[in-house]
Amino acid sequence: MSNLEAAPAEVACSSGVAGALPMVQVLQPREVPLGGPRAIRVQRTLPQRQRSLIGAWCFIDHYGPVHARMDVPPHPHTGLQTVSWLFSGGVEHRDSAGVHALVRPGELNLMTAGAGICHSEVSIESSAVLHGVQLWVALPDADRDADRDFGHYVPKSISLPGAVARVFLGELAGSRSPVHTFTPLLGAQIDLEPNAGLNIDVDAAFEHGVLCDSGHVQMGETTLAVADLGYQGPGNSTLHLANPGDRPARVVLLGGTPFAEQLLMWWNFVGRSHEDIVGYRQMWEDADDRFGAVTGYRGSVTRLPAPPLPTTRLRPRPIPERKEHT
Ligand code: MN
Repeated sequence: MSNLEAAPAEVACSSGVAGALPMVQVLQPREVPLGGPRAIRVQRTLPQRQRSLIGAWCFIDHYGPVHARMDVPPHPHTGLQTVSWLFSGGVEHRDSAGVHALVRPGELNLMTAGAGICHSEVSIESSAVLHGVQLWVALPDADRDADRDFGHYVPKSISLPGAVARVFLGELAGSRSPVHTFTPLLGAQIDLEPNAGLNIDVDAAFEHGVLCDSGHVQMGETTLAVADLGYQGPGNSTLHLANPGDRPARVVLLGGTPFAEQLLMWWNFVGRSHEDIVGYRQMWEDADDRFGAVTGYRGSVTRLPAPPLPTTRLRPRPIPERKEHT
């Protein structure tokens, strides 16, 4: 779910010593209930006031580890792709493209909404602990009405000094995901050994985000707590990560070239104008063919109703600041 609440969020910037590591901006999470009659609570770091996007990544939710069930009834999306990435547990996905998939830890499941899709997400009964991230990618204008699609990929683990990486989108350390993206993107899980530190070569045209899943991880000279998102701007060809603790730590590394188009995000829709959003909302309420229908979902609520529109006109998100954090 993507209700945009105006909760204040703190931002901390640490500037490195001249010639030292790149400056990192810390985006702290806010707790949000995920939709549905039995909502679980998630930690959301994108979008927020300080930052709307990292590359085309436009939405970052982190949840668990928690003994809870996810049960999100059929709900619509437009103009985006969703990435479900689990560390533990299992989620049953059903969508209006006719896909029925089991989302498992370490496996990329990339749903392309394009012009419109609807889907449900329900924990697999046997899975006691739910732990993972839900990420959205904004589609560029030329592709935002693309066909519905669903991609699946299981990346191999690759060894780095003091770490293991699984590259699910894009390329890192010689490992390349074959999954197509509409803009240049990077997505990888990196598990850090205790007392490890490494410098990773990254694309200098990309901006990067490091979502801390476990441990206290250093990104550059900045420490990230669990569910914090560290941001490093473009213009840097190295990303420094360290785990100073005596237990393993884990992050999700996201990146992409700065997304230059204006977006308007509301609820589960990505559009370009107030009129887009009003239209999408009405079509969902009218059960329009744009979104199709999910079959096989067995919840007490057959579909999530759209929330009421705000009384004020929705405005596009500003184009991301071009200032480079170097
Ligand atoms: Mn969804």
